[in-house]
Amino acid sequence: MSFFKENLKSFIKFCDRTFFNYQLSQIRAKWFPPVSKLNGPTSKNIQLNYEECAKLPLVLKSKPVLIYAEISTKCNLQCRMCGRAHYKIPHAEQGFMNKETFEKLSKLFTHNAQLALFGRGETLLHPDFVHFLKIACNAGLRVGFNTNGLALTKTIAKAMVKYAQTHITFSCSAGSPEMYKKIHCTDAWDKLWRNIDLLNAMKLEYDVTRNNLDIMHIPPAVYLEFVAQLANISELPALVRKAFEHNINGIVVVDVVAHSKEMEKERMNLPETIPIAQKYYEEALGIQA
Ligand code: SF4
Repeated sequence: MSFFKENLKSFIKFCDRTFFNYQLSQIRAKWFPPVSKLNGPTSKNIQLNYEECAKLPLVLKSKPVLIYAEISTKCNLQCRMCGRAHYKIPHAEQGFMNKETFEKLSKLFTHNAQLALFGRGETLLHPDFVHFLKIACNAGLRVGFNTNGLALTKTIAKAMVKYAQTHITFSCSAGSPEMYKKIHCTDAWDKLWRNIDLLNAMKLEYDVTRNNLDIMHIPPAVYLEFVAQLANISELPALVRKAFEHNINGIVVVDVVAHSKEMEKERMNLPETIPIAQKYYEEALGIQA
């Protein structure tokens, strides 16, 4: 089994605090060097930031080591489990972060800080996404975000590789087109996988480092996120098989956040659903390439 297949296998994780007691941040930590491995001004900034955060002075001298920037509150989907669908954000309140705001924010960027470029909207819809990515990556930030991936274009994919974006996580809570439609409310299953393949093709074509012959080592690392629900948990193994075919670095499995009474029954950490989750989780872990 190649490195990446091993890697994928060990990377399927359930990220629910109360169930598997495994949090997303712990998984991410595997992909970002710990402070002790960082050199120079960066590690001094991180060290200072940790010290200051412990004391909480009114004004911090350090710069942030983790920044969340929600550049889009618009989305091109309406997934059944999304808070957007339940809380119905008025159209007038949706929009894009303007260029000036992001450029002001960039004054806080420091080498090796993390930039999570998403919130509850679709990042790739932003018309200035490539410009923002260039600013952040040129400042040495480790950039990553979740996306439904449907607005990915060749230009965007090329920029992700050229500027060495650290990672990207495609939302895919299904292992078949039918379930994808049920969960994400769209017929775009084929498009999603075409776009993932497009990014992989760009990785091979435009890898600026030229150090990595193995696609799994060329940034951005590509992940999938599976939001586990009673309706879709049986398709986790099928998604793992699909991931093997498309050079995916890892799958993050999270329990659904129930925004409604109806979705409450779909959670996978209820006494009656835990055995079902365990069954499919074990099956997924046992899949060989
Ligand atoms: S793609 Fe993400 S933000 Fe958009 S509706 Fe689906 S879960 Fe919500």
